Amino acid sequence: MSKQGLQLIRPEIQALSAYHVPDPGDLIKLDAMENPYSLPEELVQQWLSELADAPLNRYPDPAAKQLTNKIRQYMEVPSESELMLGNGSDELIQIIAMSVARSGQKIMAPDPGFVMYKMISIFVGMDYIGVPLKDDFSLDMSAMLAGIKQHQPAIIFLAYPNNPTGNLFDEADIIEILNAAEGLVVVDEAYHPFACTSFMNRLNDFENLLVMRTVSKMGLAGLRLGVLAGSKILLNEFDKVRLPYNINVLTQISALFALQHADIFEEQAASIRQQRTWLFNELKTIDDFDVYPSAANFILVRLKKGGANQVFEALKKSGVLIKNLNSAGGMLTECLRITVGTADENQVFIQALKKII
Ligand SMILES: *Cc1c(COP(=O)(O)O)cnc(C)c1O
Repeated sequence: MSKQGLQLIRPEIQALSAYHVPDPGDLIKLDAMENPYSLPEELVQQWLSELADAPLNRYPDPAAKQLTNKIRQYMEVPSESELMLGNGSDELIQIIAMSVARSGQKIMAPDPGFVMYKMISIFVGMDYIGVPLKDDFSLDMSAMLAGIKQHQPAIIFLAYPNNPTGNLFDEADIIEILNAAEGLVVVDEAYHPFACTSFMNRLNDFENLLVMRTVSKMGLAGLRLGVLAGSKILLNEFDKVRLPYNINVLTQISALFALQHADIFEEQAASIRQQRTWLFNELKTIDDFDVYPSAANFILVRLKKGGANQVFEALKKSGVLIKNLNSAGGMLTECLRITVGTADENQVFIQALKKII
């Protein structure tokens, strides 16, 4: 690439590094909050036979009507609210941001938080304001309220539960933010299957509330399907920014099929929640770890005496891939994040860890 061409790229884009995903090879994958279980074999055959009829020569239904109706019922979206589907919830974050982006406008979120909020702010040319969480990872309400007053953010993102810390913010705090904010407040419920609490039933109470879900963490990360619920007035505008046919025909058929068999995913989520408790208790027995309570399908630990990089590498050598957050710095210094796997995977992980520590 000529130097001249590179000069065209905005400096803030040049300063970014691309979202890095390591190649897991044969490692046990406890790094990306995926559901470790696959579809039962008898369902795989039924699913394939539905896919066999997919009209690949045609554009998909642009409104994904059948799937949207199923999601509305399954996720108990209030009838007054509108729904929009995205190619993963990442795309929905991008659509919301693109709809409001003006230079000088701000996106605010607690820090540490989900990295895509900041990345997408930069993509669309908005300023990102990260408000530090308290030491126990709860919201620092005086800082949040002061930040809202000072910056008047167009959007506030609150991951509920938060990634990478795993905790649920206090409900009353979120309501206070909804009341204080003049901009939009997106409650990102990516981990809903493991948290079992939601702001979906409050959509009618707040005009500025948007609730976001995804099927990724419940066991369909490969499909790329996110869901946004909120007021009709707002979603009508967002829908103009959505690229036509963003939900492909294979995803529409597969997600509809999966939600018709939602009981399977609910059983899987229940066993992940059980395994989360087992893993939490095991991690708690390690003196050198601070272990943080989680309402998600992962657990964050901090190594009190350091050595996160070494433990991460040693686990990899023993065949287990987790997420090393040490390089993020700040409150995540010496932190590791472990996704809850199957009972067997969690055993292998704990045994390998105990040999290393
Ligand atoms: C994983 C995650 C997402 C991304 O979900 P996709 O639907 O897979 O794009 C969104 N928000 C949070 C907080 C997440 O952890």
